[in-house]
Amino acid sequence: MAMRLQKYLAHAGVASRRAAEELIVAGKVRVNGKVVRELGTSVEESDKVAVDGKPVALPKTHTYIVLNKPIGVVTTMRDPEGRRTVSDLLPKGLPRIVPVGRLDYDTAGVLLLTNDGELAHVLTHPRFGVEKTYRAVVKGQLSMDELERLQRGMRLEDFRASGARVKVVASPSDRTVLDITIHEGRNRQVRRMLEAVGHPVRELWRLRFGPIALGTLAPGRSRPATARELARLRELLR
Ligand code: URA
Repeated sequence: MAMRLQKYLAHAGVASRRAAEELIVAGKVRVNGKVVRELGTSVEESDKVAVDGKPVALPKTHTYIVLNKPIGVVTTMRDPEGRRTVSDLLPKGLPRIVPVGRLDYDTAGVLLLTNDGELAHVLTHPRFGVEKTYRAVVKGQLSMDELERLQRGMRLEDFRASGARVKVVASPSDRTVLDITIHEGRNRQVRRMLEAVGHPVRELWRLRFGPIALGTLAPGRSRPATARELARLRELLR
């Protein structure tokens, strides 16, 4: 099937369509050995496409699913203790996929699952530091000093958490609702950071995993990740 070169590059996971156009115009893309700068160029699957001299190809079909994990569900495909797992929530008939990282039993929100082992590996590698935004409901009101501590980062038992971006969304009398963005993903990191400044978490859910936002996906429901989300994820990793 013929497709425009920028679409081919986006499908191949090189970059978003927009960034792919820039690569083409910059003369970095060759088709069958020849530099192509025309944006409209049509390519076939059988054509040999290279970016910066490296061959690229359309992906073998991988599956990428975005789940809104509810609380009370374990982030694993099988639980020896027989608790409800994320696999119980997925549509039947999917290939074998695994969660990328983990959300606590009592944390809800965006969870990506895939059988693309390479992508899963890099996404969970601390070096790539994909941003994750959580909404937390915490006990009490945060002082300026406590907010600054979260923003500066802090020593936790087993590592130093880097600074988080924090936005207070609402602060009804004895509670604060805040959005906190971190780019690490250590065990119970958000809970531990908030606990460390004296505000234990009452509720926690992940609003965003890199370019993948929770949006209106209902708890317990899943959907395929979009081509745009996947291209953006890959861009982050380049
Ligand atoms: N931070 C936490 O404390 N829990 C999660 O599930 C994810 C991040």
